[in-house]
Amino acid sequence: MPRFEPAEFGRLLARLTPQELRQAEGLVADARKRAEAVLEIDARADAGGPAASCPRCGGDARTRWGRTRTGTQRWNCSGCGVTWSGRSDTPLARVHRPDLVVALARDMIEAPQPMSCRRGAEVLGASRHSIWRWRMAIIGALKPEPDATLAGIVEADEAHQRESRKGSREWVRHRRDPVNHPVPPRLRWRAYRRRGGSAVAPPGGWRAWEKKLLAVTDRAGHRAFEAIADAGQAAISGALLPVMAPDAVLCTDGFVTYERIAKDARIPHFALNAGRRTERTPRSHHINTVNALISRFRAFMQPFCGPASKNLAAYGRWHAARSNADRSYLHALRLLLASGPRANTVC
Ligand SMILES: [Zn+2]
Repeated sequence: MPRFEPAEFGRLLARLTPQELRQAEGLVADARKRAEAVLEIDARADAGGPAASCPRCGGDARTRWGRTRTGTQRWNCSGCGVTWSGRSDTPLARVHRPDLVVALARDMIEAPQPMSCRRGAEVLGASRHSIWRWRMAIIGALKPEPDATLAGIVEADEAHQRESRKGSREWVRHRRDPVNHPVPPRLRWRAYRRRGGSAVAPPGGWRAWEKKLLAVTDRAGHRAFEAIADAGQAAISGALLPVMAPDAVLCTDGFVTYERIAKDARIPHFALNAGRRTERTPRSHHINTVNALISRFRAFMQPFCGPASKNLAAYGRWHAARSNADRSYLHALRLLLASGPRANTVC
């Protein structure tokens, strides 16, 4: 590859037509996106970063040792001779194509509708099982909004998702060995959907099997979407109050739990029953932003056909990361790199 000469490159740019210049801008933007991931990985091993010292002996004396196959800086410990790079001891270590994981993360956070595992496998040229594993690693590393991030007018509401045990072997195990495997608390959902027969409700009624998520938004583009245990005061205030700035104003649909939370925490609270305002409600106070977030969540979840409830919290954070104005795929990648070594499990 020829050496990069800035003066020569500048002369080449000066000769381009406006149309060619636009093409060149697109190419540079693509190249910069590819380089951003490498820069992010290299930054972990910079002085003061989490991978700056030797992973084996902890020594700080080190020399540069070329670049890895993927272009990241390799380091060599002057004490024990071990080599490492910014992606050692991260979920990206020993992944043969980290560039594909980065491409997947970009699609998951920035595409209008993320690719399915099968489509992702076709587009990226990897196995659909790898795509699924990478996707779960990426969304598993996402974190809730930092404390006191949502400021100004904060809107809150709950979203619902039917409980799911997708992939569960409980029923099969119970049928094979009823002594050691207790009977599951309900039948499979398909058993309640019999056509022609009488409609049978699951034990406790349908509402008892709804999983809840709390959606919180502000007007600056911050979004929180956290799974909560129930719609009780302890669960909602535990998810809502930490992310709200102390001087924020709360707008809700007037659910009695929010009234109590606002009263106890002494937060100004505007209740819009069924989205309707009274004459005393300022025009700026509405719950349209949070309602839009929840309706986008329904559309976002549709292709997954009800993911297992054990993963619901991660899916909620994924949706929040996609809607957050200040979150990019690089933010997701940073969290993935910081989430510790990959668990040695087969899934
Ligand atoms: Zn060492």
